[in-house]
Amino acid sequence: DYALYYAKAHRRGAAILFTEEHETRLRTQSVIEQALRHADLDGEFSLMFQPLVDVATGRTVAFEALARWTSPALGPVSPAVFIPIAERSGQINRITEVLLAKALAAVHAWPDPVALSFNLSMADIASPQAVARVVAIIRDSGVPPRRIDLEATETALIRDFAQAQGVLAALKALGVGIALDDFGTGFSSLSYVHRLPIDKLKIDRSFTSEVVHDQACRDIVKSIIDLSRNLKLACVVEGIETEEQARLLESLGCFIMQGYHFHRPMGFSDTLRYLEGQSTSAGPRIQAVA
Ligand code: C2E
Ligand code: MG
Ligand code: MG
Ligand code: MG
Repeated sequence: DYALYYAKAHRRGAAILFTEEHETRLRTQSVIEQALRHADLDGEFSLMFQPLVDVATGRTVAFEALARWTSPALGPVSPAVFIPIAERSGQINRITEVLLAKALAAVHAWPDPVALSFNLSMADIASPQAVARVVAIIRDSGVPPRRIDLEATETALIRDFAQAQGVLAALKALGVGIALDDFGTGFSSLSYVHRLPIDKLKIDRSFTSEVVHDQACRDIVKSIIDLSRNLKLACVVEGIETEEQARLLESLGCFIMQGYHFHRPMGFSDTLRYLEGQSTSAGPRIQAVA
């Protein structure tokens, strides 16, 4: 299966590490792990929100919450760095709990039906206790579950497939939507996607950057979009940075888009100003082809 092979090769290329770099990385990791251990979660962690835009209507349908950490000792640390470390050192659950509650508070301020998309880690769905806490936080928030999407990566879900099926079923029973994040970068996408109770595929940003120049990549993205349609799943493409990418993805049949071309992640108060601007205009609709 070429699509599958391509996705794997794609991933492998990005994962090459040199020994020296690897060593520096290990040292850095333990420093970050220590700082995380002593972090004041309420004070040092915050969220940015990035809109998901429906280009067919120009409306923002949701915001994805993205974690930000400014450590007093280390300065700003990217979530791409600290989330995997927090996962490995068993600290992700309490971070999730604090951030999920913060993110849900934001939803109350947004007009219905603008939704929240929130990233869950492997550890957040790895035990019944962890899932129960996520469910409790959602219940306590009073936010209607139909306005909540939970994002999980394929890697997180296929680690223990049977377990993941059960967890997702429990979350779906609550009424939240489930999105499969970074789709296409994992290892066996096509073989299991129809067996998971998910609602949405998020096509990984690594495809978006190449789709304009690479015919093979375009074919893969097209087949993912067709797959989502056949399975009656919503489809989101992330990392849209140019008008050209947006137009191409629209022509391939994906209408929900996220990326710097529409808006960079913004603070909570900016989401309110941004939504106000939308109610008086058509929003960041894609320009018609000249
Ligand atoms: P993700 O869930 O795939 O989130 C999308 C990432 O792409 C975000 O990076 C976002 O800022 C970035 N992005 C969005 N549009 C563009 C674009 O047009 N161009 C480029 N180059 N990048 C774009 P960020 O905020 O650094 O987050 C990185 C990853 O960290 C996330 O990837 C997610 O896997 C993880 N993450 C972030 N916040 C959380 C969280 O609260 N919980 C968990 N478990 N993971 C999180
Ligand atoms: Mg995500
Ligand atoms: Mg993503
Ligand atoms: Mg991604």
